[in-house]
Amino acid sequence: MAIGTDSVVTIHYTLTDDAGTVLDRSEPGEPLAYLHGHGNLIPGLEKELTGKSAGETLSVAVPPAEAYGEYDEELVQSVPRRALRGIKDIKTGMRLHAQTPEGTRAVTVTKIIGDMVTLDGNHPLAGKSLHFEVRIEEVRPATEEELAHGHVHGPDGHHHH
Ligand code: ZN
Repeated sequence: MAIGTDSVVTIHYTLTDDAGTVLDRSEPGEPLAYLHGHGNLIPGLEKELTGKSAGETLSVAVPPAEAYGEYDEELVQSVPRRALRGIKDIKTGMRLHAQTPEGTRAVTVTKIIGDMVTLDGNHPLAGKSLHFEVRIEEVRPATEEELAHGHVHGPDGHHHH
């Protein structure tokens, strides 16, 4: 069957950036299963998979706008270290949860200069074009239970919540 809304799709994939660095990949023997058409994949990849069938391979280049969004300078802020008291050993690369007027946001510590800590609220892959090599392993219709939950259940029908 061809991939469409409410298909359960099993894929092997390798994700690289513009420089060819591997950012993520499915492990051998552990393909990714997802429910198509429910926002479980980034839009640019889901779009290219629509209409394809098991056994097909595809190379997809996804621009930032259809992946994790453009890089937004306004999500970068510097705060004094004392604003982060309670967090031990602040280091570059740490992921924190910051309280903002819009709620809790995941931020990354990108710079520490003296007493000032720079926090970046962009997704780590924001502003990047993503390149996927995908092999479609299996396509099947979703069960009613999977549709009700909006995600795929394992082969034995039990939950991964
Ligand atoms: Zn469930």
